[in-house]
Amino acid sequence: MKIFIDGKYYDERAAKISVFDHGLLYGDGIFEGIRAYHGRVFKLKEHIDRLFYSAKAILLQIPMSPAQITRAVVEACRKNKIRDGYIRLVVTRGMGTLGLNPKSCKRPSVIIIADKIQLYPPGVYQRGLDIITVPTTRNLHSALNPAIKSLNYLNNILAKIEANNGGCEEAVMLNAEGFVAECTGDNLFIVKNGALFTPPLSAGALYGITRQTVIELAEESGLKVSEPNLTRYDLFNADECFLTGTGAEIVPVVKIDGRVIGTGKPGRVTRRLEDVYHALTKVSGEPIYK
Ligand code: PMP
Repeated sequence: MKIFIDGKYYDERAAKISVFDHGLLYGDGIFEGIRAYHGRVFKLKEHIDRLFYSAKAILLQIPMSPAQITRAVVEACRKNKIRDGYIRLVVTRGMGTLGLNPKSCKRPSVIIIADKIQLYPPGVYQRGLDIITVPTTRNLHSALNPAIKSLNYLNNILAKIEANNGGCEEAVMLNAEGFVAECTGDNLFIVKNGALFTPPLSAGALYGITRQTVIELAEESGLKVSEPNLTRYDLFNADECFLTGTGAEIVPVVKIDGRVIGTGKPGRVTRRLEDVYHALTKVSGEPIYK
């Protein structure tokens, strides 16, 4: 595997960053997780736009333009012969002193890893997930806005550990007011009486690119989509529930906090959205091999 760091490619074992990088010392940096399907990078523009929005929010000057990063992502896929894969694009604050002040970091680093990913085994997509609500709430947007896709994922990791402790793979995270925000690495949707609902982004969720794609596909297929605040009660009484994320794609949920959702099997609307989502990945995206 060839890994891009600041304009050069390194073999896996030689791809290293400094222990003085504030990305490591303080989680000071941002990232994107991007998928390639059928020789195309899916939703690349949306991911690069979000990377630049995250950078703006944390006053990080990315040392490459959006066009340069676009080219570098596609090139990294080509060099690694990726047709179907997963790309991790990271920008760290760069090397500095041991103090946390980012002023000591002179140049941010850009890293691109083009590899593979499988978040859940295929059986999970067939059967559906059993998830639980965890005690750790999502970050307040007045403290660390969940819209920033930062390298500081401890909030999500704590929730993931709590889910694992409860025997589950994924956690429902509430916000400080007790409304549903999202899961540790995915947005959440429910289906009720033939309509689709997902928490508003202001409830404390990442502006998920899969979330947005699913909303558009649902609306195109005539489904009504709205974004009200949701409580756990709304989840328990949903007809269907599913999660969305670049890595996870669309994952059916069949149990939440011991309550069986709908029939206890992945629902019809979820299945239809999975089909149209996968159909879109076949025809859309930035071509890797021109
Ligand atoms: N929420 C969180 C916390 C995430 O980390 C992610 C990405 N893994 C998502 C939602 C889904 O976002 P996207 O669809 O853009 O991958």
